[in-house]
Amino acid sequence: MRLGLCDPRVARVRGETGGGTRKFTLTLTTVYNYRFRMKPTTKNTELASLERYLEAPHRFGAYRIALGFPNSYEIGMSNLGFQWVYRLFNRVPDLVCERFFYEEGEAAVSFESGTPLSEFGLLAWSLSWEMDIVHILRTLGAAGIPPRASERDERHPLILVGGDIARMNPSALSSFVDVFAMGDGERLVPPIAELVSSSLTRDQFLEAAGQLPGFFVPSVHGPRAEAADSGKVVVQQPMSRKEITSFFEVPHTTILTPRTELSDKLLIEISRGCTEMCRFCWAAYAMAPIKQYPAASILKVAREARATTDRVGLIATAVCDHPEITEILQGLSGLEYHIALSSIKIDAISDPILEVLARQGEKALAIAPEAGNERLRRHINKKVSDEMLREKAKLVFARGFTRLKLYLQVGLPTETEQDVADLVRLVEDLHEIAVGEGRRLGRVAQLIPSVNAFIPKPHTPYEEESLADTDYLKEQLAFLAREFERMPNVVFRGMSVSEALWEAFLAKADESHADILEEAAAGTPVRRLLKTHRDRIAAVVRPAAAALPAGPAPWSFISKR
Ligand code: SF4
Repeated sequence: MRLGLCDPRVARVRGETGGGTRKFTLTLTTVYNYRFRMKPTTKNTELASLERYLEAPHRFGAYRIALGFPNSYEIGMSNLGFQWVYRLFNRVPDLVCERFFYEEGEAAVSFESGTPLSEFGLLAWSLSWEMDIVHILRTLGAAGIPPRASERDERHPLILVGGDIARMNPSALSSFVDVFAMGDGERLVPPIAELVSSSLTRDQFLEAAGQLPGFFVPSVHGPRAEAADSGKVVVQQPMSRKEITSFFEVPHTTILTPRTELSDKLLIEISRGCTEMCRFCWAAYAMAPIKQYPAASILKVAREARATTDRVGLIATAVCDHPEITEILQGLSGLEYHIALSSIKIDAISDPILEVLARQGEKALAIAPEAGNERLRRHINKKVSDEMLREKAKLVFARGFTRLKLYLQVGLPTETEQDVADLVRLVEDLHEIAVGEGRRLGRVAQLIPSVNAFIPKPHTPYEEESLADTDYLKEQLAFLAREFERMPNVVFRGMSVSEALWEAFLAKADESHADILEEAAAGTPVRRLLKTHRDRIAAVVRPAAAALPAGPAPWSFISKR
């Protein structure tokens, strides 16, 4: 096995052989020659020429690993978690971390040097969306690496997966992955780097990782971590606000590029978690207690990056909940940044915040009422009254915002057809307010109701809830489409029901579903998989209706303490 593929240039300088306990499949000379023939692909050379680093990684080190994002370059480079972990790995002395992405039909090579992925000692993925799970298997296939962990040996790289999905429910991938890293990069990157540079054999690496907090190693712990300490794997994240000192380095973009969804935008994380605790929200429960980073640290990052960009995006589950949000926005505005907020918690909308955004020309805003009436909002723990919604919408339209996106859901627990009809009533109400303010300003704002199916997620109070019946979801989405289409200045966006079913399945699948994932990776269309494996998928997404008695959830071994 080649842990961290020793860079022969450095090995030579140090007089090391690169051998030792590591068992190279290629001789060192072969690796040397091979490496020096490697070049990034033409497309990647072009993309790399547009990148600007806020912290340049070192390019030489004794150990080389690759960090992947299981989707395209554009999406991966818009992901702050991926960018931050890339920076953390590259700060480790003697370790070089390259990137790779999933691009359908393209060679499985690293972005920076074009090295085949099979040549690395460790491939790590940052996985933040269930729908990308299959892309990991496809990448392994394209790289000529056996996807099943049991079929890999010393000749193959170790496969590590971190990110939100690793700590939400790793079981769907546990037949394929050697190590899951559960928790925050700040806590997990140092021990991974330590293992990579310890010249361990494959088995020693896995054994050692299995002893570390936050690492789930199926071959050591068993598929449900039965052999882990107390049968639990503890997610590694700060558990108290005291652990976030004023010296805490706020996660932010490492590489700016115009070729992302967020073109050249400096992303800064301002908090992790949310106080609201909506019952369907994985992030709120997984990240609790909320950690909010000091305004001074956020503005320091912004000041240092200002020479490189004038666009900033604040990342948080609930941006405007930050106790120093006004100071942060004013500070960024003073630095002449164009500021973007991911979405605003409804109760946090205030005139000073809207004023800062409007002053710099921001025209669009997104809010998440989720349900059409107060009864259902109370049930999901969304503390927003109809009155508050109307009041805040009025403030938004009065400030001249021309687009208001509304995140809504159908299929929520206890929902009735009346609740769905109330989504229409809610949009009609807000539309009336938009027309009223529009008359005064000379332009009526557009409303964009974006309706998703409720998908029950692990680690939330709704984890045992079922996905609503597919025919019901189709009917309700069709009803909403008809109703919204007849309203002027309203643009409806609805989720595909097949997509909802597939996502709900992936969120709760376990090791027994590995064959379905393999079929998906081989290219069987999702619609056909949903049909062929209808009963098995239904047992996952509608556990209450399943014939078999429910056992412990596949993710029940994941603990926060
Ligand atoms: S307000 Fe948003 S981030 Fe907070 S718990 Fe609710 S859905 Fe999650």
